[in-house]
Amino acid sequence: MKRLRIGIVDIVSKGPTRALWARIMNASLASIMPQAIGVWCQEEGHDVTFVCYTGFENLLTELPDSFDVVFIGAFTEAAHTAYALSNLFRSRGAITVIGGPHARCYPEDAARYFDYVLGFTDRGTVCDVLRDCSQHRPEGVQLAAARQPGTLPGVRQRWQFIEATLRKAPLLKMVPMLGSLGCPYTCAFCVDSTVPYQAMDFEVLREDLRFLLTRFKRPLVGWHDPNYGVRFNDSMDMIEEAVPPGSIDFVAESSLSLLSESHLKRLQRNSFKGVLPGIESWFTLGEKSRTGALLGMAKVRQVSEHVKLILRYIPYVQTNFVLGLDSDEGPEPFELTKRFLDMTPGAFPAYSLLSAFGRAAPLNLDYQRSGRVLPFPFHFLNNNSAMNVKPANYSWQTFYDHIIDLTRHSFSPRAISRRFLATEWLTARWMNVVRAVSTEGYGRARYYREIRNRLDTDRQFPPYFEQKSGALPQFYKNIVRQDLGSLMEWLPDDALYHDPNAYLKAERSKDVVALV
Ligand code: SF4
Repeated sequence: MKRLRIGIVDIVSKGPTRALWARIMNASLASIMPQAIGVWCQEEGHDVTFVCYTGFENLLTELPDSFDVVFIGAFTEAAHTAYALSNLFRSRGAITVIGGPHARCYPEDAARYFDYVLGFTDRGTVCDVLRDCSQHRPEGVQLAAARQPGTLPGVRQRWQFIEATLRKAPLLKMVPMLGSLGCPYTCAFCVDSTVPYQAMDFEVLREDLRFLLTRFKRPLVGWHDPNYGVRFNDSMDMIEEAVPPGSIDFVAESSLSLLSESHLKRLQRNSFKGVLPGIESWFTLGEKSRTGALLGMAKVRQVSEHVKLILRYIPYVQTNFVLGLDSDEGPEPFELTKRFLDMTPGAFPAYSLLSAFGRAAPLNLDYQRSGRVLPFPFHFLNNNSAMNVKPANYSWQTFYDHIIDLTRHSFSPRAISRRFLATEWLTARWMNVVRAVSTEGYGRARYYREIRNRLDTDRQFPPYFEQKSGALPQFYKNIVRQDLGSLMEWLPDDALYHDPNAYLKAERSKDVVALV
């Protein structure tokens, strides 16, 4: 096969940014899959240029003018940046490929702008693309492996890409690793709930940890597992066999049900510095938080005690909540979260507005069937900038009143200082402060107030939010234009609009085919 010039762009930021939190964190949020694709392409004998876009680079000048193929990895919030880049590279003669969460959630839409749209991707899928390597327009080809790959290139193989990315991180240099894929739990809103759980090759992981000790005095590893520690003892054995205790710091996302006191002791011995358990709701999902049938204030008390226990062993705890679930009604869910924060000052709260990301989760079919999914442009689908599912039990005005009140409470000077004092690890203390005063706390509070105000004063808002008009308010168009900067001129004209019910339509047409 001809030696190809291949570009790989891992889009971490949806556009240029100057935010302090983004400066500190974005390079540490790089994905593993684009790096794996880079390794596979090199092993197939091609030339690879790799860029992780953190929002501080000028992509128009950073990337060479001509490629044969460009792979782009993007979350949905960065879809427009990806679409604009694809358009730009196609105009220069390249074949373009999109993978990652957006491609899996909205394949029909991505196929309008890319030659190939990848679902589950393994080395065979990448080789298929490189072998075919031809234009598929106006509609791209959708390719997918039957399942997630059984093995991925380890840190040593990915190091050239990891190192180049972490050079952009001024303070915190977190190396991405993956101990498992999928999850055995079945939270209906989660993209991983339908992906079978599988552990990665422990021998490769052991090698990777040893390798990192040759690169950093004290490495920091971020486990990208959807739910770290499902095979808890095996995972801890692996770390303990690989490196001396406490020589590498770790951060992981784990459900509360996996964080028993005996597990916490072992995590502490192995220098786990941060965990991100999902609480999600006070009225549902008791299974993953190990609260069983407990609801409301009883669940708050139990989870608060549990999180305080975690904080005795692990200094950084981010608790994840979903706002606007159908199980929530009235002010109580928000008041309970405020009570939880008062009772658990050391926990950093991360809020997600209920969102239906295309095909991400089976539950999205229900939202689409009942006509509740709004066509907010992808740029706003990051769990915060817009909620694209009409709340079941709130008017939009009341809902935003509640989230403004909750955000204000969560990031008030009193809450920030109590969180600071309740956190022991110095790095964690300052991370919490920066997060609160940067885009995540103060920035979001400002944005929510703006939306709430426009629901009363901007004539374009109520018809759009109430699904009486599909005309996107100018306010949102202006934000996309501002955020994309110089890439805006490459964004295809129709890219701000997508079919929010494409998943349902595809499922129905399958039924029709089956009947024929
Ligand atoms: S426990 Fe977490 S990763 Fe697993 S299905 Fe539920 S939300 Fe997804």
